[in-house]
Amino acid sequence: MPLFSPRRYQPPFSPYSRDKESIPLRMVTAFERAAKGWLFGCRMCGNCILQETAYVCPMTCPKGLRNGLCGGATPEACEVDPSRPCTWYKIYERAEKMGRLDKLLEINAPIDGYRAGRETWLEVINKWRDNKDLHLIHYVANRDKFTEEKDKLFLEIRQPDWWQGDGEYHPPAYTEPVSNLEMNLRSGNCVVTAEIAPPLGASGAIIRKKVGWLSGYVAAANFTDNASASARMNSMASSKICLDAGMEPIMQLQARDRSRIILEADAMGAAGLGIRNILCLSGDHQRFGPSPMIKPDQFDMDAVQVLWMLRRMRDEGIYLDGRPIRKRPSFFLGAAGSPFGVLPKYEAIRAEKKINAGAQFIQTQPIFDYGRFLDWLEALDKRNLLDKVYILGGLIPLKSARAAHFMADEVPGVVIPAAILKRMDAAGDKEAQQEEGIKIALDLIEKLNNASGLHGIHIMAVHWEAIVPRLIEEAGITRPIPAVQEPGEKHMIL
Ligand code: SF4
Repeated sequence: MPLFSPRRYQPPFSPYSRDKESIPLRMVTAFERAAKGWLFGCRMCGNCILQETAYVCPMTCPKGLRNGLCGGATPEACEVDPSRPCTWYKIYERAEKMGRLDKLLEINAPIDGYRAGRETWLEVINKWRDNKDLHLIHYVANRDKFTEEKDKLFLEIRQPDWWQGDGEYHPPAYTEPVSNLEMNLRSGNCVVTAEIAPPLGASGAIIRKKVGWLSGYVAAANFTDNASASARMNSMASSKICLDAGMEPIMQLQARDRSRIILEADAMGAAGLGIRNILCLSGDHQRFGPSPMIKPDQFDMDAVQVLWMLRRMRDEGIYLDGRPIRKRPSFFLGAAGSPFGVLPKYEAIRAEKKINAGAQFIQTQPIFDYGRFLDWLEALDKRNLLDKVYILGGLIPLKSARAAHFMADEVPGVVIPAAILKRMDAAGDKEAQQEEGIKIALDLIEKLNNASGLHGIHIMAVHWEAIVPRLIEEAGITRPIPAVQEPGEKHMIL
């Protein structure tokens, strides 16, 4: 077990090639690997961000996330391997003790495969030698100058030219809404979105049927992207079928199983098909899926990095490799919010990072515990985030007592208070349980409608989409503003 980090989940990286590596250089690499392995569980990612992560190595996280917690994290354990603590929870705790929480806002780059497996110490020494303003004597004579110069040096190393991450908010570089969802959110009405699970089979008929149920009730429909690491029709194809059926989709784009190239290509392809709303996710770990276990390193990027990359494609017109984009894509970018994972003050930092990277709307995990949800909103408010992002509170209408217990016990990030479980248990037969689930959902909608800082509701009626119109009607929610259609256009164009 390393001294300052949880143990590694995956082995250290090996270099892409050992060509041109002299024997002394290999010895330095081996020494760094041994020393940092013992101290930090170092995996030799070649792009060290220990300074930013309170000296807990983020690469010990089973997903290899470099920008914060995932949605299933708890203070007690990692969702992927419950026998270990959450690496990122440890990072937040240590950073808070060291007074360095705000350092966690900087958006860290994905790994550069050329540098992985190689030493980093010589690079620091060489850069230090080249720096005319950084002298050890300043450590005693002028500590502020020393710290400033040292920070500049490390920033240069950890933020390569092709990434240039920072900790600042970057508002979108456009003024008119790019999607009907964005227009509805700007209107100030309570906006409803709903999730449609893509089919297991190849037929789009079920999507068209469900779109028919939801039409006129919701502003847009989410299509999950192989959620729970379980293959289905993909989100882009489902989104296109939805668009052709006359409703605006929200395409979920998860980083798991996709390289940075595929993520850029898929997002660009979606824009080309007229899909404007993209919800960026890191994705569930493959451990949760039914297929035989894939090799563990399936995360090239995380949600924050995907947001950063897509925002730059849209606003700066560049691919990650710097190639200019002639016809820039129009994206309305979203992210997931986790009000119930770890402490609200830590979750708010994670949310801020997503917003700074490019998230314009957040759809939260399902809310059952309204009090805890308000704590999360308050934590976001304290960080001045509520006027930078549209928030849609997640809602799952409970279909049965069994489903409620399953979610409470098995789904990471979902908290169902005992009082709600008791109501479901006491409801009676199947039909009565459904009615009780609807009553609970309506109670929550009423409360959410009054929550300041909330802009709408995201209904995840897992395989029960037909209930959505009834919920909206009984809750008295305003219908969405319909999309503007150009003459002869099949899809909404704004
Ligand atoms: S961030 Fe990378 S180089 Fe630094 S300790 Fe972790 S794996 Fe090693």
